[in-house]
Amino acid sequence: MKNQCSKIGKCNLFGGELEIPEDSVIRYKCFYCLGEESRWSSCKRFMIIDELGYCPDFVMPNSLLSSEQIMNRIQWSKVSN
Ligand code: SF4
Repeated sequence: MKNQCSKIGKCNLFGGELEIPEDSVIRYKCFYCLGEESRWSSCKRFMIIDELGYCPDFVMPNSLLSSEQIMNRIQWSKVSN
């Protein structure tokens, strides 16, 4: 069982590229990214990266949005840009 997320190299949150408070990043890393597989595999960003190969910055690990809602938001932002 791995003790760190397998998507670390593809995740902007882990890379410190998101504009969120540093203490939130540390909390997410400790709880999800560097936890046991049951933790990081339940991260919403992990699930979206697994599905799309990337995860938009608005998705947090504990997001309550469904994958479908996230896909819709991605589509909407592509149309409006
Ligand atoms: S935020 Fe989620 S997807 Fe990103 S490295 Fe942490 S556990 Fe993995």
